[in-house]
Amino acid sequence: MAKIGINISTGSLQKEEMIVGIDLGTTNSLVAIIHPESKKPTALKEHDSSSLVPSIVHFGESNQITVGESAKGLLVADPENTIFSVKRLMGKSFNDIKDRGSFFTYKVIDDDTERLVKIQVGDRFYSPVELSSLILKELKSRAEHILKTAVTKAVITVPAYFNDAQRQATRDAGRLAGLDVLRIINEPTAASLAYGIGLKKEEEKTIAVYDLGGGTFDISILKINNGIFEVLSTNGDTYLGGDDFDQVLVKLICKKTAIDENTMRADKSLAQAIRLKAEWVKKQLSSASIVADMVDGEKFEITKQEFEKGIQHLVDKTITCCSQALKDANLGTDQIDEVVMVGGSTRTPLVKETVSKFFNRKVHDDLNPDEVVALGAAIQADILAGNNKEFLLLDITPLSLGIETMGGLMDVLIPRNSKIPTKAARQYTTQKDGQPSMRISVFQGERDLVQHNRKLAEFNLTGIPGMPAGLPKVEVSFLINADGILLVKAKELRSGIEQVIEVKPQYGLTDEEVENMLLASITNASEDMKLRALVEARTEAIQMIETTQKFIEKNKAFLENEEIENTKSALDSLTKVLSSEDKDAIHSHIEALNEISKPYAERLMDIAISKSMKGKKV
Ligand code: AMP
Repeated sequence: MAKIGINISTGSLQKEEMIVGIDLGTTNSLVAIIHPESKKPTALKEHDSSSLVPSIVHFGESNQITVGESAKGLLVADPENTIFSVKRLMGKSFNDIKDRGSFFTYKVIDDDTERLVKIQVGDRFYSPVELSSLILKELKSRAEHILKTAVTKAVITVPAYFNDAQRQATRDAGRLAGLDVLRIINEPTAASLAYGIGLKKEEEKTIAVYDLGGGTFDISILKINNGIFEVLSTNGDTYLGGDDFDQVLVKLICKKTAIDENTMRADKSLAQAIRLKAEWVKKQLSSASIVADMVDGEKFEITKQEFEKGIQHLVDKTITCCSQALKDANLGTDQIDEVVMVGGSTRTPLVKETVSKFFNRKVHDDLNPDEVVALGAAIQADILAGNNKEFLLLDITPLSLGIETMGGLMDVLIPRNSKIPTKAARQYTTQKDGQPSMRISVFQGERDLVQHNRKLAEFNLTGIPGMPAGLPKVEVSFLINADGILLVKAKELRSGIEQVIEVKPQYGLTDEEVENMLLASITNASEDMKLRALVEARTEAIQMIETTQKFIEKNKAFLENEEIENTKSALDSLTKVLSSEDKDAIHSHIEALNEISKPYAERLMDIAISKSMKGKKV
């Protein structure tokens, strides 16, 4: 979708700045962009360092804040002031997390178990939103440093199972960090986009996204259709991941080196050293079949086979979740077209093999599994920036949406630049007595006359019960959902009959076309205004002619001949002037007709009133 700003003073169009994609993870976070030259999604990193920024915040003496790798280094030394896994607390109350209280080494406040949690650091209290915003601020400033430009707009990813409160919390964190969060997208959707799945129009596929990180496991089953991602089901385990693989290896290392597990646990620095060693061994075993090393002066050797035997039950657990997700989506493994691997722990060969065997197909694992979500977010950001001409997703409506009213005028229901999802409704009525149907024509564009805009759809609301003109109440409502699909509903409120159609406003419009339509509306603005005024005058005149004709027909008996003659000639001249381009002439003829009909209309009204009062006591 093109987001085009118009500079009101010059009328020129302004292109948007770069929008970044952010994976705000439980363990690590990162930023990606579409590289301006290679046009490829690229994770941002400083020279040789990693693109991953640990999602960890440390509060030092006098409250100085560090985020990332240096904060991670303080996890063991200063656990009370080092906040990790804050994503697990987003949008949660203490009741939601109390069973896992011991997981958090910092202080999670429990004074009000129903309200959203707060974290206490020293004598200060922080919400998860504030803590996440500190991580986002760090990401923003790193990105600005690398890109040498201001970064103010972002797409941020969240797990597919995040509810509205959690999504809103993520948005708020972004805003607090000084980012305009243009879109929150699901992590599995982003991962699929990174593999190019869902980027082609008319693609219809069912995808499984298997995401095994350091501490969490998620499986999502998605259906993609015409660029729209629908989450069919999700499953997982919020406390299962690579950290558990590490624990298996810690035990194996203790066994092989004859280090007593209890002694190790009591010695924090030894425990940390063995845990780090275990993780290193695990990574080695992703490509080697045996690892030999030393810890605490003791030698050990661990084979891939031993490691795999130790973690088999954990990998099997993830497969049980996959089966459940498929069951919930009412699908068999044979109905899955693509399997996408996400998360650092999918590098473990046993994980890949087991998943591939379960789904009976080759899995997508070519991209860096730590970066794939952020890369997809960057693709989405690029689409929102209007750079990806092939694939237009909506975030705001680039052009106004409305319906045709009398005289071919555009009646705007949703103005351009409205944030979606959005809805609007307006009431209309019939022009003729007993009119059984009403044509609803939906248009997109900025011009006053529909003939200059783009017709999106047309339908008839039929079955309106016979009523005098003006009596039916037809409510036309527009609803644009988050996927940019417009639903147009017309309902006659007195009888309840209704009709609904679905329109894709964006379909087939390129950025250039949108730009041209906007430019045309600016260049033709004054001409359009004149035309609108003329059409409105004509419409008013036509209605006036019809009602007056009806009136004299019905009330002939009560009118003087002269009155009838005068009215007829005023009607004739109004009809003649209708075809002229002169709105003022039309108005003055309407006025003239009014002058003639007013006296007898009032007289007849008085008669009608006194008739209806007869016999009634006041
Ligand atoms: P994530 O939460 O997606 O960043 O995943 C981090 C997890 O991936 C940690 O448990 C890492 O130990 C694990 N990981 C990273 N590299 C490898 C590797 N080469 N082999 C196995 N696990 C890895």
